[in-house]
Amino acid sequence: MGDPTKILILGGTAEAAGLARALFGDARVTTITSLAGRTRAPAAVPGAVRVGGFGGPEALADYLKREGIDLVVDATHPFAARISRNAARACNLAKVPRLLLARPPWTPQAGDNWVPVPDTEAAAAALADLGRRVFLAIGRQELAAFAGSAELWFLVRLVEEPETPPPLADHHLVLGRGPFAVEKEIDLLREHGIEVVVSKNSGGAGAAAKIAAARALKLPVVMIERPPAPDSETAESMAAARAWIDTRIS
Ligand code: NAP
Repeated sequence: MGDPTKILILGGTAEAAGLARALFGDARVTTITSLAGRTRAPAAVPGAVRVGGFGGPEALADYLKREGIDLVVDATHPFAARISRNAARACNLAKVPRLLLARPPWTPQAGDNWVPVPDTEAAAAALADLGRRVFLAIGRQELAAFAGSAELWFLVRLVEEPETPPPLADHHLVLGRGPFAVEKEIDLLREHGIEVVVSKNSGGAGAAAKIAAARALKLPVVMIERPPAPDSETAESMAAARAWIDTRIS
């Protein structure tokens, strides 16, 4: 048997960790999971882990060549647009096959009242007509878009305590890491008298409970649509990603 196939998993998601777990113990492959380093205590993943930016697409291409990476699976979050663009460019430069592992977006069901918007700025603008008590579960990095909405009250949920408080005048912070249960989400929305939910269309099961809770309570959801992804071979599930890898293992 030749050397194991070396796979770089661009991570930071449950799917990336799941893929590393699924491949762990398969003697035909070794994995390196790459994290941006945004969370101080990321969930543990088996296999090698590296942390921090690469320094742009050319530097990522150099990394791929230096480390002898055979395959790249971009399993980053659908809203992490820059790293996906960089990975596409780097894999072209280094001639390394790349798969985008992307969970399908959520689609509205009967009883949903979604207001689709293209980005966080548009989400902030849409809130004026929808309610004063807002559940913001969009992560830490884009909260500033809501800083100008001084008349609104925000319930902000983050994975861990931020180093600096959210830049919002009137808010309450709760900490929590998915997956979340629908009943607990309903309790949370009720307890804080939430009138409208803001969500990214992340897709996947782990974050879907807040959408189901909003449906149960007949609350509107301002749904931020995904940024465009680079042209890619795409897998929507772990099984499809493993099948793609299997066809490329020597
Ligand atoms: P981004 O805007 O697409 O990327 C910004 C820069 O961060 C990239 O140019 C790259 O730096 C570095 N980077 C991002 N992901 C990386 C990774 N997996 N490994 C190494 N470097 C990475 O990304 P983001 O939206 O800040 O997301 C950062 C991480 O959080 C990603 O791993 C993503 O999967 C995860 N995440 C994001 C969201 C979200 O809503 N955006 C939600 C959940 C999890 P260089 O150019 O220096 O290489």
